[in-house]
Amino acid sequence: MIAMIIGAAAVTASCNRNDGNKKEEMKEKFVLAIHGGAGTILKKNMTDSMEQAYKTVLEQALNAGYNQLKAGHSSLDAVEHAIHVMEDSPLFNAGKGAVFTNAGRNELDASIMEGKTLAAGAVAGVTTIRNPISAARAVMEKSEHVMMVGKGAEEFAKEVGLQLVDPSYFWTKTRWDALQKIKKGDSTKTQLDHDQKQSSRLGTLNKDYKFGTVGCVALDNQGNLAAGTSTGGMTNKKFGRVGDSPIIGAGTYANNATCAVSCTGWGEFYIRNVAAYSVSALMEYKNDNVWQAGQEVIDRIGKMGGDGGMIVMDKQGHVAMPFNTEGMYRGTVTKDGKVEVEIYK
Ligand code: ASP
Repeated sequence: MIAMIIGAAAVTASCNRNDGNKKEEMKEKFVLAIHGGAGTILKKNMTDSMEQAYKTVLEQALNAGYNQLKAGHSSLDAVEHAIHVMEDSPLFNAGKGAVFTNAGRNELDASIMEGKTLAAGAVAGVTTIRNPISAARAVMEKSEHVMMVGKGAEEFAKEVGLQLVDPSYFWTKTRWDALQKIKKGDSTKTQLDHDQKQSSRLGTLNKDYKFGTVGCVALDNQGNLAAGTSTGGMTNKKFGRVGDSPIIGAGTYANNATCAVSCTGWGEFYIRNVAAYSVSALMEYKNDNVWQAGQEVIDRIGKMGGDGGMIVMDKQGHVAMPFNTEGMYRGTVTKDGKVEVEIYK
């Protein structure tokens, strides 16, 4: 657990993380944080150019969000813009780079939430919406509902003028090859022992072929928090499977009274732990800080055999980024525009 805390420490170095409920002195105020998925991300499997490519997109996403905040726009705007950048990149498992289902399709999920009003929106299982995070926001702002799925969500997206694409837009070779590899049964070698039982229950749905979900949490000039998450889910998912990412309280949560949270990891475990809301609840009822609450929930998920990570931001701009995997694409930007990105533990 200490290793995990250290792993996430680079971007929170100016805070004393061990002082319990005491209010920390922050030298830097974080205004926006992102993740680009957690998983078996090892330096030895990464070329310098791949690493640079990931870092470049993460920085672009951070800057896109930051520019919104700097211009005085809301944390919701910042979250949406930052996520757009990652959805439009083939590198991440969201939008353009979404993974394939067992049927060889790309079914996308996303959600967004506003901390001030607890308003929220989500879409699941969509196949033609270029930027699902914008569809989630439209559900929140332009409908009286919180969640729309499949064809209905796509009709709604069309009606509100969002960009629709042919499903082939989401085809990428890397993701297609990953599906073929799983289908050939060549995917279990990196599984951990304690995952075997869960893995057999899930059949050939493999946690090592899912990383790249994207998420963002932000704090604007008005002191309002927002969170959003977007994903293609897990490679080889079947029967309309939906993970935690579009589920408010599981993959995404924001409440000005506590924190904003975006999760990434093995969705079934995040749903069963109501992960994002649990972080908020630990802060609200137990007075935990972002690090304690985030770590507690990641530990619970780990004990059950799940894996992944999350980003958590409180109203003061404190950020925790706990994860129990080898790595998590992640980054922060402070009020003065200083951008930092990290990949490994
Ligand atoms: N949580 C996502 C899902 O289960 C996947 C991920 O974050 O890697 O659909």
